[in-house]
Amino acid sequence: MGDLPLEVKVDIPNGKSYTQPTGLFINNEFVYPKDKKTFEVVSPSTEEVITSVYEAKGEDIDIAVDAAIEAYKSWSISAPETRQKVLLKLADLVDENADLLASIETFDNGKSLQNSKGDIALTAAYFRSCAGWCDKITGNVINTGGSHFNYTQRVPVVCGQIIPWNFPILMLSWKLGPVLATGSTSVLKSAEQTPLSALYMAKLLVEAGMPKGVVNVVSGFGKIAGAAISAHMKLDKVAFTGSTLVGKTIMKAAADSNLKKVTLELGGKSPNIVFDDAKIDAAVQHIIAGIFYNSGEVCCAGSRVLIQSGIYDKVVETLKKAVEDIKVGDPFNPETFMGAQVSEVQMSKILQYIESGKEQGAKVITGGKRSEGKGYFVQPTVFGDVKGHMKIAKEEIFGPVVTLIKFDTVDEAIEIANSTEYGLAAGIHSTDINKCIGVANRINAGTIWVNTYNDFHPMVPFGGFHSSGIGREMGEEVYHEYTQTKAVRIKLDTTGFK
Ligand code: ADP
Repeated sequence: MGDLPLEVKVDIPNGKSYTQPTGLFINNEFVYPKDKKTFEVVSPSTEEVITSVYEAKGEDIDIAVDAAIEAYKSWSISAPETRQKVLLKLADLVDENADLLASIETFDNGKSLQNSKGDIALTAAYFRSCAGWCDKITGNVINTGGSHFNYTQRVPVVCGQIIPWNFPILMLSWKLGPVLATGSTSVLKSAEQTPLSALYMAKLLVEAGMPKGVVNVVSGFGKIAGAAISAHMKLDKVAFTGSTLVGKTIMKAAADSNLKKVTLELGGKSPNIVFDDAKIDAAVQHIIAGIFYNSGEVCCAGSRVLIQSGIYDKVVETLKKAVEDIKVGDPFNPETFMGAQVSEVQMSKILQYIESGKEQGAKVITGGKRSEGKGYFVQPTVFGDVKGHMKIAKEEIFGPVVTLIKFDTVDEAIEIANSTEYGLAAGIHSTDINKCIGVANRINAGTIWVNTYNDFHPMVPFGGFHSSGIGREMGEEVYHEYTQTKAVRIKLDTTGFK
């Protein structure tokens, strides 16, 4: 068998054909890895192989890191307008290619085209927001008296970035936006389940005018390429989005190598609380957006729905009906809300959790099975009568499974909400704003959504408390995560030692 070409033609089930890069993207070129190994990429909705792509291993990561270090020399001191131009052009290119990017994402990840289109719009918006920050990354002058002049600078980093499979393009934008804005450089590894859109985005980076080596994109496996990035001696930082377990491994590798900086955006078991005075129909729509958006493969999914006893029965009845109306299936059908789970492995994990819920005595209100036919589809599943000790109430399922928990008082709701090792997000639904603010104050989570859920904005920071992570993405905070402070103190009198 001959080598896989560095570009292959891919036919997407919705009739689109395009040219997919397969190589490692280093120094603005697609290249072969040293040992020319490839791996297959499977479409979760058809269970068929879309293509293969080349796999990066340790020595390829070394080459990519060297490219990022070389590029850093000029990119880190480039004029902000230069970086802004690249980001704005990139945002325009994302918009221009929105239909194709959404189709690639849907084919590779299984998510509905509706969901992919939302991701692409957020991606363009985020790059535009980052463009606005390029000329706002400044230091301070610190007055310590007449004898000295002191200033600080924000110094960009050479970083490794490891992204997950649930929002391949959007997570790439959350990682690369601040890299490009701050003058940092990167080696970004996509998830092995979903490498296609990141390679396509690499083409757009070149078209946007990014100098070579600034961003390098590799496909590869966590334990090989991901581990090589986390343990690399020449990287200043590693940024990761994924499971808490892997986050801990990455942090250990970072500590054991060169103590590189770490930002981690990890798992969650987020509470979504509905009080008696909430607008029921709206709250139900937010429960659905919270847990069934992206087929439940969302780190901040509102997977524990806490409902006050006065409206519990009414919410359950309305929710059951609304969930049974959710369109699951062919992700390319514009009507479909929920597509396939990303892989057979992921689907099996979700089905095991569903079985454990049944075994531990929770009641299936609706769903509870794999959907018939080809593809890794799971029915949107609602469990009632859920108790705190059950696995489905404690562990992150990362699928379309919601647990309903009844409570009586505000204190009880807060107690249940906070009884988790995580702290990524929470939802509060009530028409009493004083209650909402009071409850928001007492919940330990990085993001609190009031009368909304899974509602992101580029200006609003996102990240977790406790086992949900370290550091923040988006907002102003992220620019601190991609720069280090350098303080310069100048003695003004050069005539003597004192
Ligand atoms: P999941 O278990 O749901 O696939 P992961 O957290 O394992 O999610 O994956 C998220 C990202 O982390 C992927 O890009 C994956 O390749 C990477 N990854 C997995 N294991 C490791 C590891 N040991 N070191 C570095 N990266 C890893």
